[in-house]
Amino acid sequence: MIFFENVSKLYRSAKDSNPDSQDSSHHSAAVNNLSLKLEPGKTHVFIGPSGCGKSTLLRLIAGLEAPTSGTVKVKGQIPTHIPPKVYARNIGYVIQEGGLFPHLSVYENLSIGPFGTQLTRTEQSERINARIEELLQLVHLEKLFLKRFPHQLSGGQRQRVALARALMHDPGYLLLDEPLGALDPVVRSDLQQSLKEIFQSLKKTVVLVTHDLMEAATLGNTLYLMNKGSVVQSGTFKDIHLNPHDDFVRTFITAQKPSQEFLDLWN
Ligand code: ADP
Ligand code: MG
Repeated sequence: MIFFENVSKLYRSAKDSNPDSQDSSHHSAAVNNLSLKLEPGKTHVFIGPSGCGKSTLLRLIAGLEAPTSGTVKVKGQIPTHIPPKVYARNIGYVIQEGGLFPHLSVYENLSIGPFGTQLTRTEQSERINARIEELLQLVHLEKLFLKRFPHQLSGGQRQRVALARALMHDPGYLLLDEPLGALDPVVRSDLQQSLKEIFQSLKKTVVLVTHDLMEAATLGNTLYLMNKGSVVQSGTFKDIHLNPHDDFVRTFITAQKPSQEFLDLWN
């Protein structure tokens, strides 16, 4: 379970030039008094316009930031209180730009990190190789890609590698920040299908961020529509589409221009 209780994250706004300022009028809320319970084993999709706080929410779950006020708990523990090495094995995180190391091959990108320190070198590399083989099948990548560097891959292939890397330690939680953001529509829908299969087969707790409503509807069990650091409405796509809470939700849906064919899928 991922649990947010009255969580706010404030950042000093650009207008404030004094780095020591405690004046709260110079702070803006990236996340604003948010309370949430995210059920385990489900795919939770946060969606909303740029700047509404989606990436900040993931960083709070990943323990990369502490909230300014309120409490974040993941499986009963406060993320920033868990040693990063321990937490990293429990959380697979794909940051917004994928985050592969450009100077490392795909194999090195996948095998980096803590991997059973009590094992001998040979045992470690056997275990790593076996895991990599499983993951390549899962994300539909050929073995020949292992020798390549990130710049020698297409955008879609890079995202598949980033996903494989996040799954390397079989984490209970998977955080994905716009994993399909920069891809063209054909590759995007292909990868969407892969992600859907992976989410269904692995049954992990997934928190995925996107600004694309159709993607959110395709991948998520529950959608959370965000605006200005708050969740303005949550539910299935059908709930939200048939019964938008307010003008923001209505405008957001209309602006995304869901096709009739897409809407028919949900009715
Ligand atoms: P999203 O991912 O939805 O586009 P973010 O969570 O990245 O939004 O950002 C939410 C708000 O917080 C934005 O106004 C952004 O400028 C601000 N923000 C995010 N990170 C920082 C930071 N490290 N320092 C100052 N402001 C930040
Ligand atoms: Mg973002």
